[in-house]
Amino acid sequence: MKLNENYANLKESYLFAEVAQRASAYAERHPNAEIIKLGIGDVTLPICTAAVEAGKRAAEEMGRADSFRGYGPYEGYGFLREKIVDYYARRSVRLDLSEVFVSEGAKSDVSGILDLFDNSAEVLVPDPVYPVYVDSNVMDGRRISYVGGNEKNGFLPLPDKDTKADIIYLCSPNNPTGAAYDRDGLKAWVDKANELGAVILFDAAYEFFISDEKLPHSIYEIDGAEKCAVEICSLSKTAGFTGVRLGYMIIPKAIEGGKLNLMWLRRQSTKYNGASYIIQRMAEAVFTDEGMRQIKANVNVYKKNAALMSDTLKELGIPHTGGVNSPYIWLKCPGGDSWAFFDRLLNEAQIVGTPGAGFGENGEGYFRLTAFNTYENTSKAMQRLKNLKI
Ligand code: PLP
Repeated sequence: MKLNENYANLKESYLFAEVAQRASAYAERHPNAEIIKLGIGDVTLPICTAAVEAGKRAAEEMGRADSFRGYGPYEGYGFLREKIVDYYARRSVRLDLSEVFVSEGAKSDVSGILDLFDNSAEVLVPDPVYPVYVDSNVMDGRRISYVGGNEKNGFLPLPDKDTKADIIYLCSPNNPTGAAYDRDGLKAWVDKANELGAVILFDAAYEFFISDEKLPHSIYEIDGAEKCAVEICSLSKTAGFTGVRLGYMIIPKAIEGGKLNLMWLRRQSTKYNGASYIIQRMAEAVFTDEGMRQIKANVNVYKKNAALMSDTLKELGIPHTGGVNSPYIWLKCPGGDSWAFFDRLLNEAQIVGTPGAGFGENGEGYFRLTAFNTYENTSKAMQRLKNLKI
């Protein structure tokens, strides 16, 4: 056999294993300690009832001969894609039904879309960012360059005259920094991509957390984005679907005269047999008025946690981004070293977070906290942080 040697170029990801190992070693040494986990990027609240009821009805349909369904359309059922088109229309973004592709999640879309690009394409990735963008390109052997997010640019790097790329990843609101681009920031990227003839892969997985009404939720709110941007979104964090699995990708027909859109349909019809009917019905229910009301209530719980964390850090004078438009808080480690700060939080406050170094070189010296725990635990953790006197 001839193995894909590019895999040897992947960096081992020790981050979450190391976090779990240090936390469990501490718990073993201190069996009565009440450890509060603010490290995981997974939701904790249950699926909203509108989606649960829709799932039950769909499962019943599958159990009756007159309503059973087998393989569905590769691009997703029309009933769900229409709801997604309507969802975008609320922000005055007009999409054609054929531009919407349903999938089982954003992770497989942000990596799967790479099938459509040559391995010689040059990739530009913000640093720090969701590590899947880097690893999936390393697996294909593509050349990657980085654009640095830092305290000075608010972790929202912009292109400059030397920026060169064929594929540009953007994630807004960002995981892990929680920073979200405004219209001018996204416009700078859209203009640069159109100038270079590059594609933007825009990951909007956290758009539902945006509170600031001036911020764009979709890159298509920016003129010219329909010619260069693919948008990827997910119900994972929006509707608690991390274990249910449902995402969607928008590929405008204005990109390369419709070629990219057709290539993706061709790719999906070869490598994918569609998301589950039952889950697409659950997702359809999320997009109803009642479903939206219910998921907003859940997301507001996380947003309240995030606001509390941000307020606490402000009080303590610790610089940070995120918290307002995102479930993530990205803070500057007092003392500088992110693993030393991890140990201090664990040993002295029994709080588990994530050292920033795992999200890219620019992440060193920073730390990610997430808003997915309960309000009670988040408040307790923030009180402990205040008691630490950092
Ligand atoms: N994109 C970003 C930025 C994420 O943070 C995540 C998950 O944490 C994903 C995509 C994956 O989403 P999904 O659960 O839909 O695969």
